[in-house]
Amino acid sequence: MAGPVGYVYDPLYLEHGAAGHPENPARLQAIMAHLEESGLLARLRRVEVRDAAPEDLALVHGPELVEAVRSMAAEGGGWQDADTYVAPRSYEAALRAAGGVLAAADAVLDGAVSSAFCLVRPPGHHATPERAMGFCLFNNVAVAAAHALERRGLERVAIVDFDVHHGNGTQDTFYRDGRVLYFSTHQYPFYPGSGYWAETGEGPGAGAIVNVPLPRGCGDSEYLRAYGEVCAPVLRRFRPQIILVSAGFDAHFADPLAQMLVSTRGYYEIATLLRDLAEELCEGRILYALEGGYDLTALAWSVRACIDALLGNPFAEDPLGAGPRVPGPSIDTIVDAVKRAHGLSEG
Ligand SMILES: [Zn+2]
Repeated sequence: MAGPVGYVYDPLYLEHGAAGHPENPARLQAIMAHLEESGLLARLRRVEVRDAAPEDLALVHGPELVEAVRSMAAEGGGWQDADTYVAPRSYEAALRAAGGVLAAADAVLDGAVSSAFCLVRPPGHHATPERAMGFCLFNNVAVAAAHALERRGLERVAIVDFDVHHGNGTQDTFYRDGRVLYFSTHQYPFYPGSGYWAETGEGPGAGAIVNVPLPRGCGDSEYLRAYGEVCAPVLRRFRPQIILVSAGFDAHFADPLAQMLVSTRGYYEIATLLRDLAEELCEGRILYALEGGYDLTALAWSVRACIDALLGNPFAEDPLGAGPRVPGPSIDTIVDAVKRAHGLSEG
């Protein structure tokens, strides 16, 4: 173990909520309760959160979006789109969510912790530079990546996104950049509609956007194939100085919003692969930020599985088990297309 594993959490994250909405405070309460009961929280180092400042958000977002969220919250709340609510304290919670990921990025880059898991909400990966959408107000991970590049002197940041939805906001932010490698596995076709393999970046960003659009019904073996055969070689070629993870757990077989079949053990194995890549490529620097995941048991145990992987603990058997044992769809064609698009094909 290189150093302590950090975490970010703040009770303000519970004050963003809307009755009956799947992205609700009970998600973080379930995670925190499980981490406390299992004794894992006591093994983590708390990273002091801060609030993102306007100039932090301006690394990614236009001032009109920030003002739209601020004023909507100040006026008592409302909806940014059909899915995306703003509650009276959502603006403050969103500033602290982005600031929590910024604080954790600094703690990892300063060596105060070796890696960290940010237990934040609202989530971020659908938020584009100009638009809140898909339960997301500000793009926490994109802001942290831009901060690492613009203020911490990094030249190459990798973002790995295993949320079941494509992180269109993160892709949009860095599509013409090239300093950020964005790798995503996601159900496709599915919300928000982007993430086809042929979306690979443009200009200086050409080749830096790596999408693995997976058909519904994929489970651990299909996911681990995508991470082993595509994520690992593109990260080795890119040589990131830190890996940020948009960690959504809605590809779990128990999740009510999507149709994938990943198990809790599958998340543990993905997290182990990513930890090993971080150790090989960037002195273990890896930072998780919570995105989606809507079955509370699957969510709590899968977050715990990722933290166990960071700590080097064995997998803790979860109450949901391996899930339906059905053969997954063939992903040969899609994996070949992704490899060809990114120059990974042999021969
Ligand atoms: Zn999602």
